Amino acid sequence: MTEHTLLAVLAHPDDETFGIGGTLALYASKGVAIHLVCTTNGDAGDMPAGLLEGFKSIAERRQHELHCAAEALGLAGVHLLGYRDSGMAGTPDNLHPGALINAPLDEVTRKIAHLIRQLQPQVVITHDPIGGYKHPDHITTHQAATAAFFAASDPQFVDELPPFAPQKLFFHSISKTYLRLSVQLMRIIGRDPRKYGRNHDIDLLSLTEINFPTHAAINYRSVTKVRDHASACHISQGGATQSLNRKLMKWLSPKETFMQAYPTPQEGKISTDLFENIP
Ligand SMILES: [Zn+2]
Repeated sequence: MTEHTLLAVLAHPDDETFGIGGTLALYASKGVAIHLVCTTNGDAGDMPAGLLEGFKSIAERRQHELHCAAEALGLAGVHLLGYRDSGMAGTPDNLHPGALINAPLDEVTRKIAHLIRQLQPQVVITHDPIGGYKHPDHITTHQAATAAFFAASDPQFVDELPPFAPQKLFFHSISKTYLRLSVQLMRIIGRDPRKYGRNHDIDLLSLTEINFPTHAAINYRSVTKVRDHASACHISQGGATQSLNRKLMKWLSPKETFMQAYPTPQEGKISTDLFENIP
C-alpha cells in the first residue's frame, strides 16, 4: 500500500473540528497523512474580550486554537491561505476588500491546485455546494477547491509543479440525523429552529429541506475523545462546552456524512471508507 494522504480544504479555523473532526482523527489514527488548507483566518468570529488577552487580533487567537486542534487531531500539516473571514451573508465583513468572497476565484483556485500538486492527496474533502449552513466563505471555498481538484491534473493548468490527479473528491454535508435531531430539540425547548447557532443566524429548517445524497458515512466512535480534545481547543467558538444535540449525536450516531463528487458514485450505496478501492 502506498502512503495515503488526505487533503481537507475548509474555510475557517474550527471547520476542521466541528465539521469533520471525527473523520480527520480517525484517518490520522490509521496512519493517513492529513493536510488541511484553511482559506481564511477566522477574523469575523466573535469572542469574549478576555480571550483576546495575549493576542493581537481575533484572527491570531483563532489560528492559535487551530494549531492546538491540529495537534490534537494528529494532522500532518496546516496551510493557511490568509484571506479575511467574510462573515455571514449580509454582515459588514462581506464588504472588506481582503474578504475571501471578494478575492478572484481563480486566484484562490490556483493556490489550492498548487498545494494539491505539492501534497499529492488521493482524497480531497471540501464543503458542500451550500457550504453546509450557507456561510459565504464555505461556498467560495467549495467552488475554489472543486475547480482546483480538476485543475491539478490538467496539463493546461500552468504551475511550477507537474500535474497530479487525486482520485476522489468528497463534499461534507451536515448529517441529516443531526439536523433533524437539532430541529426537534429546539422545538422542545421552545426555540425557533430558523434561528440556530450562537448568533441565531442559521436557518436549520431550510437546511432540512435540502436533499443532498449521502455516499459515505464515517463512524468516528473510536476517536470521539480525540475529537472532544480538538473541540476544546476552540474555546473562543464555544468548543469547550458541548450542546445537548452534539452530546446525543455522539452517543446515538457518531457519523460524519459526505457526498461523493468524483468519480460518479454508485447510487444507493453508502461507503464506510473514503479510501475504498484506493490501493
Ligand atoms: Zn466555517
